[in-house]
Amino acid sequence: MPADPLAIACDLVRCRSVTPQESGALALLARMLGDGGFTIHRVTFSQPGTADVENLFARIGDTMPHLVLAGHADVVPPGDETRWRHAPFAAEVEDGVLFGRGAVDMKGAIACQVAAVLDHLAARGGAPKGSISFLITGDEEGIAVNGTVKLLKWAAARGEKFDHCLLGEPTNPNHLGDMLKIGRRGSLNGSLVVSGMQGHVAYPALADNPVRRIVAIMGALMAEPLDNGSAHFDPSNLEFTSVDVGNPTVNVIPAEARARFNIRFNDRHTQASLKSLIEARAAAADAAYGGSFDNTAAAGATGQHFRFDWEPSNADVFVTRPGPFVDLVRRVIAEVTGRTPELSTSGGTSDARFIKDYCPVVEFGLVNDTMHKIDERVAATDLEALTAIYRRILDRYFDQGAA
Ligand SMILES: [Zn+2]
Repeated sequence: MPADPLAIACDLVRCRSVTPQESGALALLARMLGDGGFTIHRVTFSQPGTADVENLFARIGDTMPHLVLAGHADVVPPGDETRWRHAPFAAEVEDGVLFGRGAVDMKGAIACQVAAVLDHLAARGGAPKGSISFLITGDEEGIAVNGTVKLLKWAAARGEKFDHCLLGEPTNPNHLGDMLKIGRRGSLNGSLVVSGMQGHVAYPALADNPVRRIVAIMGALMAEPLDNGSAHFDPSNLEFTSVDVGNPTVNVIPAEARARFNIRFNDRHTQASLKSLIEARAAAADAAYGGSFDNTAAAGATGQHFRFDWEPSNADVFVTRPGPFVDLVRRVIAEVTGRTPELSTSGGTSDARFIKDYCPVVEFGLVNDTMHKIDERVAATDLEALTAIYRRILDRYFDQGAA
């Protein structure tokens, strides 16, 4: 009898595994995969100042090729539970639709991965032609320091080598088969800090108002696009998220103004080149700014009246170039769904940004229109179809190869 992805998804949804709680979700996976012949490792990572997080690594087979299926068993909080049509952790099915936190992001997809793998193995006498691993974290929806990034390092230290990874994040905007993600933009946060000279609001010529200067610099940073996009990416974008002076008075020109921003960047940049570009544009705008007050005191050694504070980022841009593996996955999705998925790099970041350092990774999962929302839900038919897709990928990967 084939494995039932809906039943597995229901069991997973009933585990209240809001980050960083495990709540039985990994134990459930460990039991199912263990019964299927996998060697199971439950690994807990910790870091001062953060909650300990449990993760799971499971492998079957000891030869190449080695395909790793990745995902996260943690979920975001449900929000106001009384606003849900069905309680968020009750896993109720109404008219063929499973309601519950994690239904699409991404316990549903994990259930499909497990069902597909168990069916694939059952059809081969319980053993794969190569190796299959599950890399399941409990720290994706949180700050993501005790999850995939450490689990990958842990696996590498054990000598694990992966050939390809299929991550089951929800990727489809409307219908299963819409979109296959082959990369992600990078993300960088920074603050622009402009210094001026404090003074009386009625005597602006005796002060250097940093509000005027920061507006000029922000204007310059927003005026020109960072690039025009690339083969697989939309144009990079800088978005200001906050402008702050924190001035409680009505009659004092402040001494400093700050603005925070986020940049989503494509493969035309590295973090370093992006910082240089932004700093150069700010310097030009600063130099061109014609203030009425010659404020050399506020200027730094460089003669600039601004500085950037860059936050550390572990979200670099990456792309898995189309090739045999991408082709295989794309073809299978088209065969099962009748839709040829767009190869996309849109959206936020995901744990694929860490996996890409170890092997090529693509992402394909459920429809993402209800993820993180009240009444997150998935159609049982989508779970069946996604299981069929994963199953066919496994069959073809191990029977025909995709190296
Ligand atoms: Zn997710």
